[in-house]
Amino acid sequence: MADEGKRSRLYLELDLNKDGKQTGFLRVPHSVHRSAYGWIPIPIACIKNGDGPRVLLQAGNHGDEWEGQVALGRLIREIEPARVKGRIIILPSANFPASLAGMRTSPIDDGNLNRTFPGDPDGTVTQQIAFFIEHVLLAQSDFGFDFHSGGSSLTYIPSTLARRSVDPAQTEKVVALMKAFGAPISYLGAALQGADRTFTAAAHRHGVTCMGTELGGGGQVTPAVLKVAEDGIRRILAHLGVYRVDVPPAPPTRLLTVAGDDYYVYAPEGGVFEPLAELGDEVKSGQPAGRIHFNDTPWREPAVASFRHDGLVICKRVPGRTERGDCLFHLGSDLAAI
Ligand code: CA
Repeated sequence: MADEGKRSRLYLELDLNKDGKQTGFLRVPHSVHRSAYGWIPIPIACIKNGDGPRVLLQAGNHGDEWEGQVALGRLIREIEPARVKGRIIILPSANFPASLAGMRTSPIDDGNLNRTFPGDPDGTVTQQIAFFIEHVLLAQSDFGFDFHSGGSSLTYIPSTLARRSVDPAQTEKVVALMKAFGAPISYLGAALQGADRTFTAAAHRHGVTCMGTELGGGGQVTPAVLKVAEDGIRRILAHLGVYRVDVPPAPPTRLLTVAGDDYYVYAPEGGVFEPLAELGDEVKSGQPAGRIHFNDTPWREPAVASFRHDGLVICKRVPGRTERGDCLFHLGSDLAAI
């Protein structure tokens, strides 16, 4: 790897090789006017008990995606080392400055953590966090989970997602994890090609089995979606044998794929978005998806954006105010139908 030999400048208060439950901070040195020798405190927990699977649970990769952050906080408080076999590292608010600001990206450097891997130990705050996650945490994990949701601008049917692998046995392993999580839907993307800047790509670079989610979103937490998250997280940990816990059996998940870029609908112009479909709708190719109203010239007929394929509406834009190029919807297609 090109960045081999470079070392992270971040200081971890925990010893990842020690048995028991530890909580504390990953310190990102941050020398600023207010605080000459200060650091940014990213909360982290490590629960270890002997040998077994090494699991990394992460949320807050995007700071305004709350369900995973809340679910992982509760898990840290609940989990007892005696019920663990192996190691669970929990990083609930990975891009902590973004989470603190309630934003997708960091207010410090505008960094989108999930477009920053493999990171840079000498780079901006977000680049340094990405470097640590990839080269320290993922480098010593067997399984990596990244709990996203729609954030402020999108809302999803609670979903799990993963990439196909060139190795079919590996793909089966992630499909088994999706079934264990038991979200209403799951979707499988194409295998990654070449270098990519996401956590998923970072995990693949280190041979880590990886699954993500799109839990809900809309910049909020709802009890129903939080329950999907909390039950699902416990079930995947039980499935891996790393955490002994009683959970209700997994409901069935509908296996889908997002077949290509034209399964997304984008705003053709700027204006005010009126959706013409809802999450969970089965739509047809050519069906109107939404209107964009021109409140600066309200006598103009609104622009209409249409779906370009048949499919299930799994993601919808939330805010009314919309710019040309904003994502309004995307569709999933049943795996068998492709
Ligand atoms: Ca996200």
